[in-house]
Amino acid sequence: MAKFKIKTKSPASNVPKTTNGKPKEGKKPNKFKFSVKNEDAEIAQLTERYSTVKIEENCSFSDFPLSKKTLQGLTQGQYKKPTAIQRESILPALQGKDILAAAKTGSGKTLAFLIPVFEHLYINRWTRLDGLGALIITPTRELALQIFETVAKIGKLHDFTTGLIIGGQNLKFETKRLHQLNIIICTPGRLLQHMDQNPLFDCTNFKMLVLDEADRCLDMGFETAMNAIIGNLPITRQTLLFSATQTKSVKDLARLNMKDPVYVAPHEKEQYTTPNRLQQNYVVLELGDKLMMLWSFLKAHSKQKIIVFFATCKQVKYFYQIFRKLRPNILLLPLYGGMNQEKRNNIYGEFCTRNNVCLMATDIASRGLDFPKVNWVVQLDCPEDTTQYIHRAGRTARLNTSGESLLVLLPQEEEGVVAMLEKTKVPINKISIDQKQLFSPIVKIQSFLAQSPELKETAKRAFIAYVKSVALMKNKKIFDVAKLDLDSYAKSLGLLVAPRVRFLSKIGIKNVKNVKADVSVTIAEDEEDSEGELFTVKQSDKPVLDQAQSTSDSCPVSTQVHKKKMTKVKILKRSLVTNKKITFEESGDANENHDEDEVYDIEKARAQLRLVDAADKERYKDLRKAKRIAKKEKGKRKADDAEMDEFPSEEDDSVDLNWLPDPDKVYKNGDHTETGMKEQVPKKKRKIIEKIDDITLTEAEQLAMNLLL
Ligand code: ADP
Ligand code: MG
Repeated sequence: MAKFKIKTKSPASNVPKTTNGKPKEGKKPNKFKFSVKNEDAEIAQLTERYSTVKIEENCSFSDFPLSKKTLQGLTQGQYKKPTAIQRESILPALQGKDILAAAKTGSGKTLAFLIPVFEHLYINRWTRLDGLGALIITPTRELALQIFETVAKIGKLHDFTTGLIIGGQNLKFETKRLHQLNIIICTPGRLLQHMDQNPLFDCTNFKMLVLDEADRCLDMGFETAMNAIIGNLPITRQTLLFSATQTKSVKDLARLNMKDPVYVAPHEKEQYTTPNRLQQNYVVLELGDKLMMLWSFLKAHSKQKIIVFFATCKQVKYFYQIFRKLRPNILLLPLYGGMNQEKRNNIYGEFCTRNNVCLMATDIASRGLDFPKVNWVVQLDCPEDTTQYIHRAGRTARLNTSGESLLVLLPQEEEGVVAMLEKTKVPINKISIDQKQLFSPIVKIQSFLAQSPELKETAKRAFIAYVKSVALMKNKKIFDVAKLDLDSYAKSLGLLVAPRVRFLSKIGIKNVKNVKADVSVTIAEDEEDSEGELFTVKQSDKPVLDQAQSTSDSCPVSTQVHKKKMTKVKILKRSLVTNKKITFEESGDANENHDEDEVYDIEKARAQLRLVDAADKERYKDLRKAKRIAKKEKGKRKADDAEMDEFPSEEDDSVDLNWLPDPDKVYKNGDHTETGMKEQVPKKKRKIIEKIDDITLTEAEQLAMNLLL
């Protein structure tokens, strides 16, 4: 897929084309002259109609004063009738007015701003030599890519050069070609990089600025970049802002030099702010039940197309890795900011084309993306506000199609979130989950974690990232980190104990439930379009002497602070704990593993293995005895020592072995696969058991898990 596209304009490109875009046969120079004349006449006609044309409710695109090239592009793309937002915003945009447009998710906003962009450049006879004419800014790379694809589809008969400028691509390649572009579709960070570093970047002739998902582009996360970009653009220009949750902030409009914009909101008077055919439900769950619920949900909807939203990248990473190991009956695809761009593009493309698939994503997938035929959107972690909710849920039920959305809430989140949604005119029903439909994969997850320290580390990071994300939320009435049942959340992820969240001690909260504390921190940067972990926290003035060995669960933090001053050496001596594992995260934070329970207890495992070993020996002894008796009774040939391990063959029905102990009981685990006399105890396993004292820790762990499960 082309990520950077330039349609070079040769003289031949001005030759009239047939409907399939190929030049007509014949004398080119004459046709060329004819074409220029034709174009002039067309442009004159079109501009005249801008002020006279009347747009009716049931109109089609051909009723608009649009160029033939645009109309043909629309016809080829199977677009006949405009949607409400297109009907109401295209004409004022053609007239050169600034537009502030708000319309529901999936209502066709992309074409509503692309058509005026094409037309504006066309009637101004824009060529490659005129340089940059229009900028379309979006908050995420995937959305920029999607818009670029729409431009390629609808604008292919025009001769403008269009470029996709997003992070994660070849900067040099972009730099060399940037000055040739007429339309740039970009994310704010990358555009600013070019503005700052690229001497070829020139916007003297610039005419149109479009912000898709405008409220997001203008919010705190992109504030610095957007202010710098706006500062570099000529003041005289046309500005179009589009979003489902539009900004009405006068400050934002002033930042953009928008004076008297036309406000277009075709759905404002409707009963609901979300698409009419979007069925919205919520369910209230304990934190520790979320993983089980999602697993059961995927099992029950394996033939559908689903998007699951998580609060952080690290949760997506862990849930994806562990669910993939559990082998669900559905293709899983992860999408989050920390992935490299090529992977992101591939996953985006694959999710578009597949039907039975689940995309596990952060909010980089929540804005604007028009994935076809999504049946379900699940918000596993509570959205920050209604805006985030509306955009996530809006990935389904796009443009008159139906879809379902499920919001998962913790008991403490329910009241606040439901009230918030009702206030914003979002219709949502409470549903409960049939307990019989729930399947817990926890035993398998624990065994995977016991076998893979890397996976365990990923689980810990997911845990910590989620807790941090809750602590960083602004709305403290809904998001109360102290009310999280961290122990059961850790267990649900397969961890034996809750990892210590150093971040919590920094901001004055113990890593336990029911501690009341006032947390006030700020989010400095957003997750979208920044790589890796993006939360940064204001340094707390509070002493960070968190005592992990705290005894009381509900003891406030203040009682944990040492009153007596200690020297560095004393602190070091005190904090030296044997068997303590410290791993360093990419951020440089040390992650200390103090808790002995968290380390797999090898002594315990050995004792269990000895038990199993003894039971095995006992059983084999009985089996050998049975064989001897059988042979004696039959008066057959002498027993061969080498064959003593072998069980009688299946055909040997003369031996009654019903008296033998039930192997499941011996193993105290119903999952053991040996049944009666049909299966033999593998020699390999026996050998390992006999050599139990020689094996390594990892081998012992694996063996224990294999035997115990
Ligand atoms: P929004 O930006 O409002 O969320 P999009 O621009 O992504 O919505 O459009 C949603 C879907 O509707 C896309 O698949 C798009 O191709 C389709 N669409 C847009 N306009 C029309 C139209 N006039 N007729 C038919 N389909 C349309
Ligand atoms: Mg859109």
